[in-house]
Amino acid sequence: MNIFLFLFFFFGLLIGSFLNVVLARLRTEETLLGRSYCRSCRKYIVWYDNIPLISFLILGGKCRHCHEPISSRYFCVEIATAMLFTLVGWKFFEITSLVSWIETAMYLSVFSLALVIALYDSKYFEIPMRLMWAMIVVIILFFLFLDARVFTSVSSVWDLRLYMGIVSGIVAFEFFWLLSFVSRERWMGYGDAYVAFALGLLLGTGAFTAIILAFVLGALYGISQMFLGKKKLSSQVPFAPFLFGGMALFLLFSDIVCHFSWFVACW
Ligand SMILES: [Zn+2]
Repeated sequence: MNIFLFLFFFFGLLIGSFLNVVLARLRTEETLLGRSYCRSCRKYIVWYDNIPLISFLILGGKCRHCHEPISSRYFCVEIATAMLFTLVGWKFFEITSLVSWIETAMYLSVFSLALVIALYDSKYFEIPMRLMWAMIVVIILFFLFLDARVFTSVSSVWDLRLYMGIVSGIVAFEFFWLLSFVSRERWMGYGDAYVAFALGLLLGTGAFTAIILAFVLGALYGISQMFLGKKKLSSQVPFAPFLFGGMALFLLFSDIVCHFSWFVACW
Protein backbone atom coordinates (compact mmCIF):
# COMPACT_ATOMS: atom_id res chain seq x y z
CA MET A 1 0.00 0.00 0.00
CA ASN A 2 2.82 2.42 0.86
CA ILE A 3 4.09 2.54 -2.70
CA PHE A 4 0.59 3.57 -3.86
CA LEU A 5 0.52 6.40 -1.35
CA PHE A 6 3.78 7.69 -2.87
CA LEU A 7 2.14 7.56 -6.29
CA PHE A 8 -0.86 9.48 -4.96
CA PHE A 9 1.52 12.06 -3.50
CA PHE A 10 3.41 12.62 -6.80
CA PHE A 11 0.20 12.64 -8.82
CA GLY A 12 -1.10 15.23 -6.35
CA LEU A 13 1.98 17.42 -6.94
CA LEU A 14 1.35 17.37 -10.70
CA ILE A 15 -2.35 18.13 -10.34
CA GLY A 16 -1.54 20.81 -7.74
CA SER A 17 0.71 22.47 -10.29
CA PHE A 18 -2.17 22.40 -12.79
CA LEU A 19 -4.61 23.79 -10.18
CA ASN A 20 -2.25 26.76 -9.74
CA VAL A 21 -2.61 27.44 -13.46
CA VAL A 22 -6.41 27.14 -13.25
CA LEU A 23 -6.50 29.52 -10.28
CA ALA A 24 -4.24 32.09 -11.96
CA ARG A 25 -6.12 32.03 -15.28
CA LEU A 26 -9.72 31.58 -14.17
CA ARG A 27 -10.31 35.27 -13.43
CA THR A 28 -8.63 36.49 -16.62
CA GLU A 29 -10.34 33.81 -18.76
CA GLU A 30 -7.00 32.80 -20.27
CA THR A 31 -6.70 29.43 -21.98
CA LEU A 32 -5.38 26.61 -19.81
CA LEU A 33 -3.34 25.24 -22.70
CA GLY A 34 -0.84 28.08 -23.16
CA ARG A 35 2.65 27.74 -21.69
CA SER A 36 3.42 28.98 -18.18
CA TYR A 37 5.01 32.41 -17.90
CA CYS A 38 6.32 34.66 -15.15
CA ARG A 39 3.56 36.92 -13.85
CA SER A 40 5.94 39.85 -13.51
CA CYS A 41 8.33 39.81 -16.52
CA ARG A 42 6.02 37.62 -18.67
CA LYS A 43 8.94 35.46 -19.91
CA TYR A 44 8.05 31.82 -20.60
CA ILE A 45 9.13 29.34 -17.94
CA VAL A 46 11.26 26.47 -19.28
CA TRP A 47 10.27 22.95 -18.29
CA TYR A 48 13.12 22.44 -15.81
CA ASP A 49 12.04 25.56 -13.94
CA ASN A 50 8.48 24.27 -13.84
CA ILE A 51 8.87 21.06 -11.83
CA PRO A 52 6.46 21.06 -8.90
CA LEU A 53 8.08 21.83 -5.53
CA ILE A 54 11.66 21.21 -6.67
CA SER A 55 12.03 24.17 -9.03
CA PHE A 56 10.56 26.50 -6.42
CA LEU A 57 13.19 25.34 -3.90
CA ILE A 58 16.11 25.43 -6.37
CA LEU A 59 15.21 28.93 -7.60
CA GLY A 60 14.74 30.08 -4.00
CA GLY A 61 11.20 31.22 -4.79
CA LYS A 62 12.38 33.76 -7.39
CA CYS A 63 12.00 34.10 -11.16
CA ARG A 64 15.18 33.07 -13.03
CA HIS A 65 15.04 36.14 -15.27
CA CYS A 66 13.70 39.08 -13.28
CA HIS A 67 14.37 37.70 -9.76
CA GLU A 68 10.94 38.84 -8.63
CA PRO A 69 9.70 36.60 -5.80
CA ILE A 70 7.19 33.93 -6.89
CA SER A 71 4.19 33.74 -4.55
CA SER A 72 4.64 30.93 -2.00
CA ARG A 73 0.99 30.17 -2.76
CA TYR A 74 2.14 28.03 -5.73
CA PHE A 75 4.29 25.95 -3.43
CA CYS A 76 1.56 25.65 -0.76
CA VAL A 77 -1.13 24.63 -3.29
CA GLU A 78 1.14 21.86 -4.65
CA ILE A 79 1.89 20.51 -1.15
CA ALA A 80 -1.77 20.77 -0.08
CA THR A 81 -2.98 18.92 -3.21
CA ALA A 82 -0.35 16.20 -2.73
CA MET A 83 -1.39 15.74 0.90
CA LEU A 84 -5.10 15.65 0.04
CA PHE A 85 -4.47 13.08 -2.71
CA THR A 86 -2.43 10.93 -0.32
CA LEU A 87 -5.22 11.06 2.26
CA VAL A 88 -7.87 10.15 -0.36
CA GLY A 89 -5.68 7.22 -1.48
CA TRP A 90 -5.24 6.09 2.11
CA LYS A 91 -8.94 6.34 2.90
CA PHE A 92 -10.71 5.14 -0.28
CA PHE A 93 -8.35 3.29 -2.62
CA GLU A 94 -8.33 -0.49 -2.88
CA ILE A 95 -6.44 -1.87 -5.84
CA THR A 96 -8.65 -4.94 -6.30
CA SER A 97 -12.01 -3.16 -6.32
CA LEU A 98 -13.27 -1.41 -9.46
CA VAL A 99 -15.80 0.60 -7.45
CA SER A 100 -13.01 1.97 -5.26
CA TRP A 101 -11.05 3.06 -8.37
CA ILE A 102 -14.06 5.05 -9.55
CA GLU A 103 -14.82 6.34 -6.06
CA THR A 104 -11.19 7.45 -5.63
CA ALA A 105 -11.27 9.27 -8.99
CA MET A 106 -14.50 11.02 -7.94
CA TYR A 107 -13.02 12.16 -4.61
CA LEU A 108 -9.79 13.33 -6.26
CA SER A 109 -11.84 15.47 -8.68
CA VAL A 110 -14.08 16.80 -5.91
CA PHE A 111 -11.14 17.72 -3.65
CA SER A 112 -9.24 19.37 -6.54
CA LEU A 113 -12.27 21.48 -7.45
CA ALA A 114 -12.92 22.27 -3.77
CA LEU A 115 -9.36 23.50 -3.32
CA VAL A 116 -9.56 25.88 -6.29
CA ILE A 117 -13.05 27.14 -5.31
CA ALA A 118 -11.94 27.72 -1.68
CA LEU A 119 -8.80 29.62 -2.74
CA TYR A 120 -10.73 31.65 -5.31
CA ASP A 121 -13.37 32.55 -2.72
CA SER A 122 -10.75 33.62 -0.17
CA LYS A 123 -9.06 35.77 -2.80
CA TYR A 124 -12.03 37.36 -4.60
CA PHE A 125 -14.99 36.75 -2.22
CA GLU A 126 -16.83 34.97 -5.00
CA ILE A 127 -17.66 31.36 -5.86
CA PRO A 128 -16.56 30.41 -9.42
CA MET A 129 -19.87 28.87 -10.50
CA ARG A 130 -18.48 26.95 -13.49
CA LEU A 131 -16.28 24.92 -11.16
CA MET A 132 -19.16 24.53 -8.69
CA TRP A 133 -21.38 23.05 -11.42
CA ALA A 134 -18.53 20.78 -12.53
CA MET A 135 -18.30 19.41 -8.99
CA ILE A 136 -22.07 18.84 -8.78
CA VAL A 137 -22.05 16.99 -12.13
CA VAL A 138 -19.11 14.76 -11.06
CA ILE A 139 -20.95 13.77 -7.86
CA ILE A 140 -24.25 13.11 -9.68
CA LEU A 141 -22.52 10.90 -12.29
CA PHE A 142 -20.82 8.89 -9.55
CA PHE A 143 -24.09 8.32 -7.66
CA LEU A 144 -25.89 7.35 -10.88
CA PHE A 145 -23.21 4.70 -11.34
CA LEU A 146 -23.52 3.48 -7.71
CA ASP A 147 -27.32 3.49 -7.73
CA ALA A 148 -27.54 1.68 -11.07
CA ARG A 149 -25.66 -1.24 -9.51
CA VAL A 150 -28.17 -1.69 -6.67
CA PHE A 151 -31.31 -0.32 -8.32
CA THR A 152 -33.20 -3.63 -8.54
CA SER A 153 -32.48 -4.66 -4.95
CA VAL A 154 -33.24 -1.51 -2.91
CA SER A 155 -36.22 -1.52 -0.57
CA SER A 156 -36.79 2.24 -0.47
CA VAL A 157 -35.75 5.33 -2.44
CA TRP A 158 -33.75 6.48 0.60
CA ASP A 159 -31.27 3.69 -0.13
CA LEU A 160 -30.45 5.47 -3.40
CA ARG A 161 -27.48 7.75 -2.82
CA LEU A 162 -28.61 10.26 -5.43
CA TYR A 163 -32.11 10.65 -3.96
CA MET A 164 -30.77 11.03 -0.42
CA GLY A 165 -28.11 13.44 -1.68
CA ILE A 166 -30.50 15.70 -3.57
CA VAL A 167 -32.94 15.94 -0.64
CA SER A 168 -30.09 16.75 1.82
CA GLY A 169 -28.60 19.16 -0.70
CA ILE A 170 -31.85 21.09 -1.08
CA VAL A 171 -32.28 21.39 2.70
CA ALA A 172 -28.68 22.62 3.10
CA PHE A 173 -29.11 25.01 0.13
CA GLU A 174 -32.26 26.56 1.58
CA PHE A 175 -30.66 27.05 5.00
CA PHE A 176 -27.71 28.96 3.52
CA TRP A 177 -29.87 30.81 1.03
CA LEU A 178 -32.02 31.99 3.95
CA LEU A 179 -28.92 33.10 5.92
CA SER A 180 -27.81 35.16 2.89
CA PHE A 181 -31.28 36.57 2.33
CA VAL A 182 -31.91 37.55 5.98
CA SER A 183 -28.44 39.08 6.39
CA ARG A 184 -28.44 40.67 2.90
CA GLU A 185 -25.24 38.71 2.18
CA ARG A 186 -23.38 40.04 5.23
CA TRP A 187 -23.11 36.68 7.05
CA MET A 188 -23.15 34.46 3.99
CA GLY A 189 -23.18 34.92 0.22
CA TYR A 190 -25.62 33.23 -2.15
CA GLY A 191 -22.64 31.36 -3.61
CA ASP A 192 -22.21 29.57 -0.27
CA ALA A 193 -25.68 28.06 -0.74
CA TYR A 194 -24.40 26.20 -3.82
CA VAL A 195 -21.40 24.95 -1.85
CA ALA A 196 -23.82 23.75 0.85
CA PHE A 197 -25.89 22.00 -1.84
CA ALA A 198 -22.79 20.12 -3.04
CA LEU A 199 -22.03 19.07 0.54
CA GLY A 200 -25.55 17.76 1.01
CA LEU A 201 -25.43 15.96 -2.33
CA LEU A 202 -22.13 14.26 -1.53
CA LEU A 203 -22.54 13.52 2.17
CA GLY A 204 -26.33 13.02 2.56
CA THR A 205 -27.32 13.55 6.20
CA GLY A 206 -23.59 13.63 7.06
CA ALA A 207 -23.57 17.13 5.54
CA PHE A 208 -25.07 18.51 8.73
CA THR A 209 -22.08 17.30 10.75
CA ALA A 210 -19.79 18.79 8.09
CA ILE A 211 -21.65 22.14 8.25
CA ILE A 212 -21.38 22.22 12.06
CA LEU A 213 -17.64 21.51 11.68
CA ALA A 214 -17.47 24.39 9.17
CA PHE A 215 -19.01 26.80 11.68
CA VAL A 216 -16.56 25.56 14.36
CA LEU A 217 -13.61 26.09 11.98
CA GLY A 218 -14.94 29.53 11.00
CA ALA A 219 -15.36 30.55 14.65
CA LEU A 220 -11.85 29.34 15.54
CA TYR A 221 -10.47 31.30 12.59
CA GLY A 222 -12.42 34.42 13.55
CA ILE A 223 -11.25 34.25 17.17
CA SER A 224 -7.61 33.71 16.19
CA GLN A 225 -7.77 36.66 13.76
CA MET A 226 -9.23 38.90 16.46
CA PHE A 227 -6.50 37.89 18.91
CA LEU A 228 -3.90 38.68 16.28
CA GLY A 229 -5.64 42.02 15.84
CA LYS A 230 -6.01 41.46 12.11
CA LYS A 231 -9.75 41.64 11.76
CA LYS A 232 -12.75 43.09 13.49
CA LEU A 233 -15.80 41.04 14.25
CA SER A 234 -17.65 42.69 11.39
CA SER A 235 -15.03 41.91 8.70
CA GLN A 236 -16.23 39.89 5.75
CA VAL A 237 -14.93 36.32 5.81
CA PRO A 238 -15.27 33.96 2.83
CA PHE A 239 -17.11 30.86 4.00
CA ALA A 240 -16.46 28.29 1.23
CA PRO A 241 -13.01 27.38 2.65
CA PHE A 242 -14.64 26.43 5.96
CA LEU A 243 -17.47 24.49 4.30
CA PHE A 244 -14.97 22.47 2.27
CA GLY A 245 -12.77 22.15 5.37
CA GLY A 246 -15.72 20.63 7.22
CA MET A 247 -16.36 18.32 4.26
CA ALA A 248 -12.72 17.18 4.21
CA LEU A 249 -12.65 16.56 7.97
CA PHE A 250 -15.89 14.60 7.77
CA LEU A 251 -14.83 12.48 4.78
CA LEU A 252 -11.24 11.77 5.75
CA PHE A 253 -11.43 11.60 9.53
CA SER A 254 -15.04 10.61 10.19
CA ASP A 255 -13.99 8.07 12.87
CA ILE A 256 -12.11 10.71 14.85
CA VAL A 257 -14.85 13.31 14.32
CA CYS A 258 -17.51 10.86 15.58
CA HIS A 259 -15.46 10.03 18.66
CA PHE A 260 -14.95 13.71 19.30
CA SER A 261 -18.66 14.58 19.01
CA TRP A 262 -19.47 11.61 21.26
CA PHE A 263 -16.99 13.03 23.75
CA VAL A 264 -18.61 16.47 23.53
CA ALA A 265 -22.10 14.95 23.85
CA CYS A 266 -21.02 13.21 27.08
CA TRP A 267 -20.18 16.53 28.62
ZN1 LIG B 1 10.14 37.01 -14.14
